[in-house]
Amino acid sequence: MAESPTIVWFRLDLRLSDNPALRSAIERGGPVVPVFILDPQGEGEWAPGGASRWWLHQSLSSLDVELRKLGSQLVIRSGDPLVELRDLLRERGARLVCWNRRYEPELIRRDSAIKEALVNYGCEVTSCNSALLNEPWSVRNKSGKPYRVFTPYWRHCVALNVDNPLPRPQKLVLPKRFPRSLSIGQLKLEPEIDWAGSMRARWNPGESGAGKALSQFVKNAFADYGNGRDIPGTNGTSRLSPHLHFGELGPRQIWHALRRTAEKAGRSESTWRSSQFLAEVGWREFAHHLLYHFPHTVDQPLREEFSRFRWRTNPDGLSAWRRGMTGYPIVDAGMRELWATGWMHNRVRMIVASFLVKDLLIDWREGARWFWDTLVDADLASNTLGWQWTAGCGADAAPFFRIFNPTNQGEKFDAEGRYVRRWVPELKELPDRWVHQPWNAPAETLRRAGVELGADYPERIVNHSIAREVALEAYGRLKGRE
Ligand code: FAD
Repeated sequence: MAESPTIVWFRLDLRLSDNPALRSAIERGGPVVPVFILDPQGEGEWAPGGASRWWLHQSLSSLDVELRKLGSQLVIRSGDPLVELRDLLRERGARLVCWNRRYEPELIRRDSAIKEALVNYGCEVTSCNSALLNEPWSVRNKSGKPYRVFTPYWRHCVALNVDNPLPRPQKLVLPKRFPRSLSIGQLKLEPEIDWAGSMRARWNPGESGAGKALSQFVKNAFADYGNGRDIPGTNGTSRLSPHLHFGELGPRQIWHALRRTAEKAGRSESTWRSSQFLAEVGWREFAHHLLYHFPHTVDQPLREEFSRFRWRTNPDGLSAWRRGMTGYPIVDAGMRELWATGWMHNRVRMIVASFLVKDLLIDWREGARWFWDTLVDADLASNTLGWQWTAGCGADAAPFFRIFNPTNQGEKFDAEGRYVRRWVPELKELPDRWVHQPWNAPAETLRRAGVELGADYPERIVNHSIAREVALEAYGRLKGRE
């Protein structure tokens, strides 16, 4: 058995179960030193935003609790990971560092450089896959090229086998003495002014919260996901996105939880393998696939002609959108849900994103930045895909001329106004008929509902029918039709 300790460098894999880097360290034998290093600089322009930092604090605390149940602890450092890792290697005489891979372009560069330097330093490095069913370079179309369209990509992937998740370790060999560590609080991830009250009430970050969220979803909502997933006023989706982003849960665990549940209930393999829910997990995989193969898309359109698109500067519009004060109830409800909870329903993300880029003609990168700071699940791959999809400039994107009508979308997916009434309480007393279009409500109805437009709730900042024509014209110019 090896005597020198092995360092497990935790990153976006904040769990003990199904953690291949941790498993490699355990299998090598010898003491295991679990380490987390905060490195905002290494993430370049995409260091975690405010909501993600809040989540990270909770998730690290939870991982530390789980490690302490095994007699271990999480060693916390901050700064350049190479410097910190070298320091740990020197201090502890460790010869092996294990980590799970990340796929953001900046981090691929950073990690490759770290790996090279550590190897030159005489250390071994093992890197593994904890985050994806299939890593981006392992999936190619028949011509050997990366997929750019989701359906064939997923048809290919869903037919592949997926390894069983690795078991949770029952014990860890402890080092004689743990290296010095900061406290999690010293990382200053939590906001100085506490704005996170409703996030605390809403979420349960950490591996155990992730496991519970998965079991509840599989038990209560999976069967009806196909219908429920589009209704923001219900709990029709899993809300696993932040857990997946921080690696408190991995997609292999989801895959096999679905398989096991179906087997127990005597349901066929196709009920889970070809399920809409698994396909959504597939979208997450596809997002990573695109980011890896087209790394410039974090701030450049994949469809090149869009780099000539003339976005508008509209600070008032942008501010109204961010604050949930556009006068379009479904848009405002979404933006307020985001601000309060750090999350927004997928259907509503598409509606608010379309409103920003098409009704207001504001650059999708402004929206992506705001989401980056406010989402607890802010993820470079999925956020880039979501925004480019909506703006019409990404792979497999909705065409630019498909412009969401926020009133129709609200009436279709929030027919009884439950979602809007929850997040826009000013409109609570309006009858269903008007709750998605208060500007059309008769004056007497508004008066009885206690709504004065422009005072209690804003007038629309744009008229959608006109904004739509303007957007189509701008798109026409791009296509050189005018
Ligand atoms: P479920 O419906 O329960 O789906 C299960 C899982 O599949 C999700 O947790 C998520 O990991 C994955 N998933 C579902 N839909 C998508 C999708 N369209 N693209 C990629 N993965 C998907 N998702 C993020 O995780 N981080 C982001 O930063 C992000 N930004 C987005 C920005 C825009 C403009 C849009 C339109 C979508 C964005 N999404 C993002 C995708 C999607 O909205 C969320 O993943 C989903 O709402 C999370 O809720 P859920 O966990 O209940 O999803």
